[in-house]
Amino acid sequence: MVLLTKIERLLRHRLANKKWRKNNPSYSKELYWKNIEKSRKNGRDNYHKDIEKNRKKSREQYYKHRERNLEYCREKRQNQEYKKWHREYKKIWEQKNKDKKSAYYKKWYVRNGKEYHKQWREKNKEILNQKRKEEYANNKELNSIYRRRSYLKNHQRNIIRCRKWREENKELFKKLAKLNNLRRQKLGYIDINIFQKLYEDNIKQFGTLTCILCFKPIEFGQDSIEHKIPVSRGGTNQYENLGIAHKICNIRKHNSTMGEWFGKQIKEKELWQIKT
Ligand SMILES: [Zn+2]
Repeated sequence: MVLLTKIERLLRHRLANKKWRKNNPSYSKELYWKNIEKSRKNGRDNYHKDIEKNRKKSREQYYKHRERNLEYCREKRQNQEYKKWHREYKKIWEQKNKDKKSAYYKKWYVRNGKEYHKQWREKNKEILNQKRKEEYANNKELNSIYRRRSYLKNHQRNIIRCRKWREENKELFKKLAKLNNLRRQKLGYIDINIFQKLYEDNIKQFGTLTCILCFKPIEFGQDSIEHKIPVSRGGTNQYENLGIAHKICNIRKHNSTMGEWFGKQIKEKELWQIKT
């Protein structure tokens, strides 16, 4: 046995080719390429006869090759020219096969989407918390408006939540109700004559029953009696201190006076106009 180098093998191959061409002068280059194309076509046809089988085979071969040549494959993937080529190839493939692309990503999201988001959130926990705090501190007044508006939008949901809270904290609710009742008993209940006068004067002034706090008409069952100076600040049950308002408006006013309430309302409007 004589071992040949690469160049020597090439030279020997070329010499053999020359000899073969001299012996077969009818064989041209065009014929040579035709034969090669034929063989390639045959190969393709055979591959497409059992696509699923052959794809499996080629995939297995690819994975085996990758396991055997890990470093080579890693270098190839990190090669920038290869990356460029791969990016362009991917773009062209995705433009041609949009349905396949969307189906693939949907499948991927169902399999790994939630876990991916979880991991990302855990990784960037501190940054997210800081951002949230900063945003809240910068827009404290606006955030309170957002909360109120969402509360009003989901009014029925909130009623159910309140009922749940009452059932869960029965004793606390009883204590609070007792305190409220005691405070009202000290003041004394409102006279029926004052009730009648309040409703009649309200209708005379506005035409229909309207809210003192938001100046919008009140539907049946939504009316409540409002203390202009709240009871906790020394307000009384006399006619001059009373008015008729929405239940929601009354709760929102809480323990602020009329001046504080209208000041707040004007501020909120200004903030909302800047935002929208
Ligand atoms: Zn109102």
